[in-house]
Order: sequence, then C-alpha cells, then structure tokens
Amino acid sequence: MISALFPGSFDPPTYGHLNIIERARLIFSEIHVVIAVNSAKNYLFSAQEREQMMKKIVEPWDNVYVHLCDSLIVDFAKKIGAKVLVRGIRNMADFSYEFDLSVMNKSLDSEIETVFLPTDPKYFVLKSSGIRELASLGGDISTMVPKIVAEELNKKFKD
Ligand code: ADP
Repeated sequence: MISALFPGSFDPPTYGHLNIIERARLIFSEIHVVIAVNSAKNYLFSAQEREQMMKKIVEPWDNVYVHLCDSLIVDFAKKIGAKVLVRGIRNMADFSYEFDLSVMNKSLDSEIETVFLPTDPKYFVLKSSGIRELASLGGDISTMVPKIVAEELNKKFKD
C-alpha cells in the first residue's frame, strides 16, 4: 500500500494532468493531488477555484484526493504518510527541471522518492500557460481541458 502525491500548480487542470492521475492511481493505492499555493506567484485561478475544479474532475475516482498546500511538498508528504512524488514529463526540458527538483527533494527528505511518468503522446504539447493564453485570445481549448475547466476559462475571459 503506497500512497503518492501529485503536486503542481494546476492553473488550470488539463487533460495532460488528468492522464497522469488516471495512470498513477492504478499503480499506487492513493493519489493525493496537491495544489500549490504560493503567495509570490500570480495565478489566473485562485487556490479555491483550482481546488474546486480539480475536486469535480477527480470525483469519479475513489482513491484520488485533493489538497491545498502552502508548505514544502516533502513536509506535506510526510504529514499524510505518502512516500512517492509523481511528476509528469513532456520533454527534455521537463526532465531537466524535474530531475533537479527530485535531487533537491531527496536531499530534504531521503525517504521520499520521485517517480516520473512520461506523458501520453496525445498530450505532450499541453501546458497550462499555453492554454491560458489561447483561452485569453478566444481560441478553442475544448480538446485540451475538461468541460468544466473550459467553462471556467471562458467565464474568466468573457470580458
Ligand atoms: P508546474 O507548476 O510545475 O508547471 P503543473 O501544475 O503545470 O506544474 O503540472 C504539474 C505536473 O504535471 C508536473 O509534473 C508537470 O510536468 C506535469 N504535466 C503538466 N502537463 C502535462 C502533460 N501534458 N503531460 C504530462 N505531464 C504534465
């Protein structure tokens, strides 16, 4: 029984994130999606909005839980008894960044392991920042995010 954490900004959640959650939940007993709350970052969606969207999306999956976190991710993992951090990898740039992050997290807590899952090729170009930009220009994002996220993005940019 190994619980895993899937941390990120999820601003907003995309089909790329969901694909990672869907696959990770079949490998680990529980997946805790941890939404970062960082007061130094400018998010499009508030922490509560991101949490609400994510909760609705993962509702059908009984072993997936959603949390907000404003502390170190390894401390949060320890607090809830999770041993693994799951990260999605789209390309070499992600790998380079995620590798450094995993080494840093390992130095903070040697008992927590990072596991990388390569993106499904269908989703390798999906990233939250690109989707925000596309939505702000009125582009069609319906194949990139769940319906509820598309609706929230359209609401944000309707003016
Ligand atoms: P960050 O704030 O680090 O950019 P995100 O919230 O965008 O994180 O994403 C959280 C995790 O999901 C990261 O490990 C990221 O690499 C992964 N991810 C994001 N988009 C995709 C995708 N299309 N396919 C696979 N993994 C993804």
